[in-house]
Amino acid sequence: MDTGVQSSAEWIAEGERYVMGTYKRFPLVLTEGAGMAVWDCEGREYLDFIGGIAVCSLGHSHPKVVEAIQKQAAKLTHVSNLYHIPPQIELARLLVENSFADKVFFCNSGAEANEGAIKLARKYGCDILGGKYEIITMENSFHGRTLATITATGQEKFRKGFEPLPDGFVYVPYNDLEAIEQAVSERTCAVMLEPIQAEGGVRVPDERYLKGVRKICDERNLLMILDEVQVGMGRTGKLFAYEHEGVSPDIMSLAKALGNGFPVGAMLATDRVASAFAPGNHASTFGGNPLAMAAGKAAFEVLTQEGVIEHGARVGLYLKKRLEELKSRHSCMLEVRGRGLIVGVEMDREIAETVNRCIDAGVLIGSAGTHVLRFLPPLIVEEHHVDRLITTLDKVLEAV
Ligand SMILES: *Cc1c(COP(=O)(O)O)cnc(C)c1O
Repeated sequence: MDTGVQSSAEWIAEGERYVMGTYKRFPLVLTEGAGMAVWDCEGREYLDFIGGIAVCSLGHSHPKVVEAIQKQAAKLTHVSNLYHIPPQIELARLLVENSFADKVFFCNSGAEANEGAIKLARKYGCDILGGKYEIITMENSFHGRTLATITATGQEKFRKGFEPLPDGFVYVPYNDLEAIEQAVSERTCAVMLEPIQAEGGVRVPDERYLKGVRKICDERNLLMILDEVQVGMGRTGKLFAYEHEGVSPDIMSLAKALGNGFPVGAMLATDRVASAFAPGNHASTFGGNPLAMAAGKAAFEVLTQEGVIEHGARVGLYLKKRLEELKSRHSCMLEVRGRGLIVGVEMDREIAETVNRCIDAGVLIGSAGTHVLRFLPPLIVEEHHVDRLITTLDKVLEAV
């Protein structure tokens, strides 16, 4: 095949021909990235306020992560979990030393991390709680696309057409402690939730909500599972979102930013809970392989040792302030919400055109559902990037 330079239109046509159509993609062919910028195959630059969906928190192609991947790839890429793997042990240790957890299981995505969390909760329920299996999850949540995780996801649209689904999930409204109390039964083993609902529209619960969930779990002898796949790893201004409330879960899932773009997922738990898993109960061929772990370890070190999280928290406040100012001039903006660098803007109309026009103006932004603009920039974003976003949005909102 001729491998000469291809235009965007040619790539898009080929992509539609060969790649399964599970995504409605923007007509944009991205081929390079550095820091806050990505470039398309024709050399046009874009300012990235979505960061690969909260993944590239250190910016694109961070030199230390690139170097770690290159070095490890040349040394040892994969051997399987039949053997001990030093970079895996080192990343597990970093996660344990910086969280509530005592043990880590590595996998390759957020859905897998949640699948592991659900299996661990069920195993614990079976062995320790005398046969309990039901998990209470939240309406409007998002936990992934495997059969168990679409079932845990409290949104009908993700489940439709995939029945029969696994049994044992009960849904309650988010941010409603009373609803959890009422849903607990003699079968319940766990409550599973996001500290902030991300895909569900950037919904920040009331202060003390997570504390309340923790209290119910303690009183009723349930496991508290936090899905920090999107909001973990510094996104909210602390390493983990649960730290804002001074509570800790029994199980937590991580993925997105963990490898800064290299696919890495993790499921963390306390010793008490993790001990429900014995050899053979759960596994992953690729999970925790040397290459993924080298990427994860380099990303973790940069994130925690170079002030990136604190910087992100500061710029997050600035982003919210600038969006609030913009809101005072555009009545189509109903509410600005979020924490750190997960920020949403609820609009009075569908946002597809706004997102498209921002792309045309050279700025990538995200959405959460049909009416919420979502901003998930790399945590290295600077005030002047925010200013450019605001100027662009101002013009776009003027036009739509
Ligand atoms: C993205 C996401 C997932 C799923 O992660 P994948 O890596 O796409 O499987 C699960 N939970 C939350 C909160 C997410 O944001």
